Amino acid sequence: MNEKSTHVVVLGAGYAGLMAAMRLAKKTDSRDVTITLVNATDTFNERVRNHQLISGQRIPERPLPELIAKTRIRFQQGTVRSIEPDRHTVIVETGPDQTVDMRYDHLIYALGSRVDVGSTPGAREYAYTLDEHSAAALAPLLPDLAARGARVLLVGAGNTGVEVSTELAERFPDLDVTVVTRSSFARNLSEGAQRHIRKAFSRLGISLIEHAEVIRLEPHEAVTAAGTIPFDVCIWVGGFEVSDLARSAGIRVNGRGQILVDRALRSLSHPDIFAAGDAAMPADDPGTPVRMSLYAAAPMGAHAADALAAHLHGRQPSPFGLSFIAQGLSLGRRDGVVQFLDGSTDTATRFMITGTIGNVFRQFFVDFLVLNMRLQRTIPWVFYWPGKNKMRSRAATERSTREAAHADG
Ligand SMILES: Cc1cc2nc3c(=O)[nH]c(=O)nc-3n(C[C@H](O)[C@H](O)[C@H](O)COP(=O)(O)OP(=O)(O)OC[C@H]3O[C@@H](n4cnc5c(N)ncnc54)[C@H](O)[C@@H]3O)c2cc1C
Repeated sequence: MNEKSTHVVVLGAGYAGLMAAMRLAKKTDSRDVTITLVNATDTFNERVRNHQLISGQRIPERPLPELIAKTRIRFQQGTVRSIEPDRHTVIVETGPDQTVDMRYDHLIYALGSRVDVGSTPGAREYAYTLDEHSAAALAPLLPDLAARGARVLLVGAGNTGVEVSTELAERFPDLDVTVVTRSSFARNLSEGAQRHIRKAFSRLGISLIEHAEVIRLEPHEAVTAAGTIPFDVCIWVGGFEVSDLARSAGIRVNGRGQILVDRALRSLSHPDIFAAGDAAMPADDPGTPVRMSLYAAAPMGAHAADALAAHLHGRQPSPFGLSFIAQGLSLGRRDGVVQFLDGSTDTATRFMITGTIGNVFRQFFVDFLVLNMRLQRTIPWVFYWPGKNKMRSRAATERSTREAAHADG
């Protein structure tokens, strides 16, 4: 590393972090900027395929060193243990009793999220989740469980709950699959899409229990106000939570622990830190409510790279904009739903595509994003997302400037 060069450390090699690192490498000069990408594992986990992983399907393995080959990104495998913003240092555990102090000039924080098993007693102890290690641990047990007609209970009927339950029921027809949800089901979808999913549930023999909140898990039963639901295996697909690292570091976060960022995706409290993906939340409206999703993570990663590159070149970064125009759900390998959305409110319209084409469309979207990450090596401009320019008339730093003035005053 040249002594005068700026060191950018990117934390997390998920959709947001990998996109950010690849794009930044292409948009900055190797003589001025060095980039280190830190991730707990040395493979890229396509989280949106973890329901396929759980049902025992072979998912293409994507080693990170191979994905970043022919870029100048340095890869450091390790688990981030703490951040010390005052010292511009990240502490990374690289092995048993082995840590590295990594100094940075700029940080891109993209540590994503994990399934929240901390909010309901017993969930951590007695349920599997869709996080990579848990999904991989459950996968080899399912054929035997299916052979004896075991009862699988999924807690949560958001999009992920729908995708996992249909995947499992299609792959293992002998499993007795039940989905329980505290409210009604697939609430973010149109009535037509909900009807289509209900039909898929009944075709695949999935039982749905609505308006029943699981208040506690015991080793083989879920306790609700109305009684207990027995299970042999429980899969927890409730909401996502983010790590406490940012909050512990004194970085300004919201109630969920996501880093609050301005329009340039820069931390409101620490302007040398950019944040993207599930671990970040724009403090100002970027044109649509941002939810934790791959759909938002990849554009946020790309924009964080653009904003940091602009800053390093002495230019004003542009504000982040996004429109959700569609969301796709797989219902096993042969059926799916693509729900078209109102781009300003992220709410369902009555337009949708169902069946095999819906499934192919969802798969295409996932593959398209991975392809786009690869293409960042050579043609970063190829990645363009809906709503990218819709906030152009606003200043990227509006919020932070206003907040700083407020704090000073
Ligand atoms: C089964 C499933 C299906 C989904 N389907 C969809 C879908 O159809 N559409 C959609 O838009 N979204 C979907 N999602 C949500 C989507 O996967 C996430 O919103 C997205 O992955 C967020 O991307 P990210 O880059 O912010 O974080 P992540 O993908 O979570 O990546 C974070 C990275 O940081 C690493 N990391 C975390 N903590 C540390 C640490 N302390 N030290 C070092 N490394 C660390 C992780 O190993 C990981 O590589 C789905 C999620 C699941 C689980």
